Amino acid sequence: MSDQKTLYGKITFTMIKPGERNQENIGPILTKITENGFRIEAMKLVKLRTKQAEVFYSHLSDKPFYNDLVKYMTSGPVLAMILEKENAVSDFRVLIGDTDPTKAKEGTIRNLYAESLQKNAIHGSDSDENAALEAGFFFSTSERYNKNGECFLKDTWVV
Ligand code: GDP
Ligand code: MG
Repeated sequence: MSDQKTLYGKITFTMIKPGERNQENIGPILTKITENGFRIEAMKLVKLRTKQAEVFYSHLSDKPFYNDLVKYMTSGPVLAMILEKENAVSDFRVLIGDTDPTKAKEGTIRNLYAESLQKNAIHGSDSDENAALEAGFFFSTSERYNKNGECFLKDTWVV
């Protein structure tokens, strides 16, 4: 655990996506994450409302798959997490693999556990800025405290 109070730049946001298959694979997926040096700083199982999923994926609202994606992401609970590691964002994108599981490298989470391009098992932030935004979208200030009682992700980084 870093001594620094804020972990901006050292965290990523992830969620294990909905679906029976992902539910069954929660254990192995969490093992893969922690074995690869990511520390879980916050975690909760939460069912998104339609409006929340629409906002979370608003940057994709012009895509033909947007409505289906929102429907899928609200079809059951997601396991949302804030993960800490040096170079968390880029290292985690490597660990999850390509968006398209048929292109994801062997041993990556999407290669091992995805069902399809849409049901690709897991989300990972694509920048430090988005990691902070997404972490703040899911976790309130009181849920962003580390074991030393320090707020590791301040509101100023989130809004
Ligand atoms: P990510 O950052 O790798 O998750 O990919 P994007 O941010 O581009 O897309 C968000 C999510 O939308 C992906 O994880 C997929 O679940 C879904 N998605 C992306 N591209 C497609 C597509 O071409 N078709 C469908 N059906 N879903 C897609
Ligand atoms: Mg993305």
